[in-house]
Amino acid sequence: MANVTFNESLCKGCGLCVSACPKHIVKLKDDLNSKGYHPAGVENKEECIGCAFCATMCPDCVITVER
Ligand code: SF4
Ligand code: SF4
Repeated sequence: MANVTFNESLCKGCGLCVSACPKHIVKLKDDLNSKGYHPAGVENKEECIGCAFCATMCPDCVITVER
C-alpha cells in the first residue's frame, strides 16, 4: 500500500493537489495551519494508489508518496 504524507506547515491551500488526485481523496482541511491556510490532507489513505500526481502537482513540495 502507498503511504502519502503532507508537511502541513508548508501548505498554502492552493488546492492543486485536490484536483490532481484521480481517487478524489485529497481534501483541504477545515482547520488552519501555522501560516493561516487550510492545509491539504488525505481522508482515506487506504484508497491511495501511489500515483504521486498530487506530489508532482504541488508547487511547494508539501507531499511525499512512498510505495
Ligand atoms: S498518490 Fe495519487 S491516489 Fe494517492 S493521494 Fe496522491 S494523487 Fe491521490
Ligand atoms: S498543491 Fe501543495 S500547497 Fe497546494 S494545497 Fe496541495 S499540498 Fe498544499
